[in-house]
Amino acid sequence: MYPRLNIDLDKFYKNTSFFVGMSKDNNVDLMSVTKCFCGDIILAEQQVEAGVKYLADSRIQNLIKMKDIGAPKVLIRIPMQSEVSSIIKYADISFNSELETIKKLNEEAKKQEKIHKILVMIDLGDLREGILPENVDETVKEIIKLSNIKIIGFGVNLTCYGGIIPSEDNLGKLVEISEELESKYNLNLEIISGGNSSSIYLFDSKKMPNKINNLRLGEAILLGRETAYGNNIEGTSDDVFVLEAEIVELKTKGSVPIGEIGMDAFGNKPSFKEQGFILRAILAVGQQDVNYDGLVPIDSKIEILGASSDHLLLNLENTNKDYKVGDTIKFKVDYGALLKLYTSEYIEKNYI
Ligand SMILES: *Cc1c(COP(=O)(O)O)cnc(C)c1O
Repeated sequence: MYPRLNIDLDKFYKNTSFFVGMSKDNNVDLMSVTKCFCGDIILAEQQVEAGVKYLADSRIQNLIKMKDIGAPKVLIRIPMQSEVSSIIKYADISFNSELETIKKLNEEAKKQEKIHKILVMIDLGDLREGILPENVDETVKEIIKLSNIKIIGFGVNLTCYGGIIPSEDNLGKLVEISEELESKYNLNLEIISGGNSSSIYLFDSKKMPNKINNLRLGEAILLGRETAYGNNIEGTSDDVFVLEAEIVELKTKGSVPIGEIGMDAFGNKPSFKEQGFILRAILAVGQQDVNYDGLVPIDSKIEILGASSDHLLLNLENTNKDYKVGDTIKFKVDYGALLKLYTSEYIEKNYI
């Protein structure tokens, strides 16, 4: 069935093992971030087999899917107060930055007779989640009064909203705050979590502070690239996931629409490059399933022209291959495209 996402399980396992190995060499435990593949249990199981220590996701629904897999589950998005009961039930650890929510988690943990572990997020400049450094002490002082909450670590998230790159400086600050509060409040920390796929470049340059003992990796494992500078990582595959879609129309037509140009299907005014008559293909996949600017045709002579909700338009004029209606065309995907493809129920997940 098409369109489908081909998932190469062998390459996926190898990519996971690669980063497990890299982390081990640097005394770091790995949280695999499973949100980009919606907590798909086939992939999550492979990752635990390959040596990932924790499974981490932003959505409780995905942690529930993975509940029977033998690794601690971590909720990495700041909890909603409306979901505390399932968090206590299904998340072994949650990342937090709001005292009021932590108090609600504590009440719920008492009800369920559990001790809930939390990691306190500190904002070191990226301006997404986290307590500001100057306010962490007063917050921790309140958290430790709660009977059923245990602080097991501190963490930071960078390069997500503000694009701030992890450095010896900001991660050093995380370590400094963590150690200071650990001794002041007798915390017994298990985790100092130094970020996501944008932090791994620090291993190469030997600039990762050695007290950082945890990273949370999604994109690096899935697409074989680090995200501080966008470099591919040697020894990993960038084509674990490949979109394959079918040609439903193939005709030579002009390259610029005829008539007055108004708006496209999404309310934008489109523009076109005049390249005369070209061989145009329509594939049965569209913006409902994927953002087309996140696709790279494996046949590099193919040009993507655009897409509407259910149609992807290609220029096949320059390819050497003799495509026919009913043939399929394959694409590598970026993070945004993969996220959307996984989420679309119209895309078959084809494990190979
Ligand atoms: C999504 C996310 C990650 C993983 O980011 P990648 O760039 O895919 O490695 C790590 N931590 C948090 C808090 C996240 O939300």
